[in-house]
Amino acid sequence: MTESKRKFPDWLKRRIGSGQTFAHTHHTLDTLGLETICTNANCPNRGDCWSRGTATVLILGAICTRNCKFCSVAHGKPLPPDPTEPARVAQMAKEMKLNYLVITSVDRDDLSDGGASHFRDVILACRKELPHLEFELLVPDFRDCQDKAIEILSPARPFVFGHNIETVPALYPVARPGGDYRRSLNLLQKAKQAWPDTQTKSAIMLGLGETDSQITAVLNDLRSVGCDRIAIGQYLQPDKNSLDVVEFIPPEKFDAWANNAKKLGFTWVQSSPFTRSSYHAEKKTL
Ligand code: SF4
Repeated sequence: MTESKRKFPDWLKRRIGSGQTFAHTHHTLDTLGLETICTNANCPNRGDCWSRGTATVLILGAICTRNCKFCSVAHGKPLPPDPTEPARVAQMAKEMKLNYLVITSVDRDDLSDGGASHFRDVILACRKELPHLEFELLVPDFRDCQDKAIEILSPARPFVFGHNIETVPALYPVARPGGDYRRSLNLLQKAKQAWPDTQTKSAIMLGLGETDSQITAVLNDLRSVGCDRIAIGQYLQPDKNSLDVVEFIPPEKFDAWANNAKKLGFTWVQSSPFTRSSYHAEKKTL
């Protein structure tokens, strides 16, 4: 990487969080002993999201069975799912007066259902407390149990079903060694086939060294499996052990990708340097 590429461009400067709502979000999550992807992945939007009273809860622990090179979440041998977690997430949703909740998890290849039943239990517990609450799931690829996971999640609908493709297939060996591009597409396809009315969603990070034609191919692949929603953001190195940024993509280029994505038929598009799959996920339109 050249020095000029390493310098952080002005458009990537972000304020850190402060204020009453930020403090309340922090306090609620801490008191209830909940993990978030916001902190575990060092998300640059934490100040903004938490100050607006929203956060993405990370269920099934903070230790992942995979070791993606773009991610700062710890990896190793996770603990069994905590049966008290669904009630704690429900309490959080109540205390934060949420209307929309994004739930994600680490990869749990150690569990026979990949953690699907825990996702379901969290949704059902929340819905009992807050019947109006809307959900978005950001799930792992359910490696060997995709059909089973979909069956298990069925009674917890409605929700937006998200699974991130993360990068172009050529970069999977370096960025996502435990993943498989086709497997990720298959999951989105199976979800769409099982639940045609459910919005499916994915996200891709730019700046890892992918080419424009590779990005276009991924967008086409996602549309070919019926993916409705797309989030496109700048990869930022979350810690010193993660992959270096290869390129900072200027905001205008993200706008161009947004236009391309809309032309391809995505019905919900977010594309900007700070876009993450859960960022402004509650927005209803393009
Ligand atoms: S974009 Fe998502 S992960 Fe990042 S702070 Fe906001 S809610 Fe958390």
